[in-house]
Amino acid sequence: MAASGRARYVGRFAPSPTGPLHAGSLVAALGSWLDARACGGTWLVRIEDIDRQRCRDSAAATIMHQLAACGLHPDSPPWMQSHRAQAYEQALGVLRASARAYCCGCSRRAIEHALRAQGRAHEPGEELPYPGTCRDGLRGAAPRAWRLRLPDDATVQWFDRRIGAQCEDVARRIGDFVLRRADAAWAYQLAVVVDDAASGVTDVVRGEDLAASTARQIVLQRALGAPTPRYLHLPLVRDAQGRKLSKSDAAAALQPGAAALRSALANLGLRAQGASCGELLASAVAQWREAWPRQP
Ligand code: GLU
Repeated sequence: MAASGRARYVGRFAPSPTGPLHAGSLVAALGSWLDARACGGTWLVRIEDIDRQRCRDSAAATIMHQLAACGLHPDSPPWMQSHRAQAYEQALGVLRASARAYCCGCSRRAIEHALRAQGRAHEPGEELPYPGTCRDGLRGAAPRAWRLRLPDDATVQWFDRRIGAQCEDVARRIGDFVLRRADAAWAYQLAVVVDDAASGVTDVVRGEDLAASTARQIVLQRALGAPTPRYLHLPLVRDAQGRKLSKSDAAAALQPGAAALRSALANLGLRAQGASCGELLASAVAQWREAWPRQP
């Protein structure tokens, strides 16, 4: 293969250690592993432990153990986002230096109030589009969070290998979004973009719920001069009520091994051929290559 940037492949699985893996997170892990192996690429694991309030101490070790017991071994030791504060600080510094980041003094209540005053409706609990109150200064409010100043045209067109062409007006749906939260925690959007760029990720394969974050991440990649990876968002595994399985809702922890792998393969529309994890994975790589050819 030519040694061009296009020919290289780096993929990753990026679980938040809020609990052990469940059937849904195994599907995301397996999909990203299969895509990397089908492309002869590198597969990384990144533990997204920046939200200390949601993380559980032993979960990262449990997740690594569950992956290994399913035969999914990363090519390097896992990255921990809790060790990456300096890189996030540096990225925020770059954005501040180019006036792309600004300090915001708004509480959720203040944002709801400003949206109501503008006649913009929103549902309770919904992510609120930021109305831009602090764009031109704090006007006496105490600084709380850092936000990204969106460019005038923040319409992002991007392509997903499964769900196809996407277009999102980030300014309208989300507004200037948070980079560092009022509790000083780094926002997921900033951390994911900085880390994907730093580890040379070329392909993101993850659950469909994260497709809603992709346009924001692309805006941020552009602001930081980072490349945009290819995207493939996989269907979510749902419970009997149709809700997405979630580690924080204590979805049943996965008993790792061949049976779990069989059901994850079925969720990806692949046939389970073989008895051991190794046999199941080897046959799935060949099937994946046919089902999801990667365009150059
Ligand atoms: N940490 C995120 C999660 O567990 C995934 C982030 C990503 O794949 O971009 O939902």
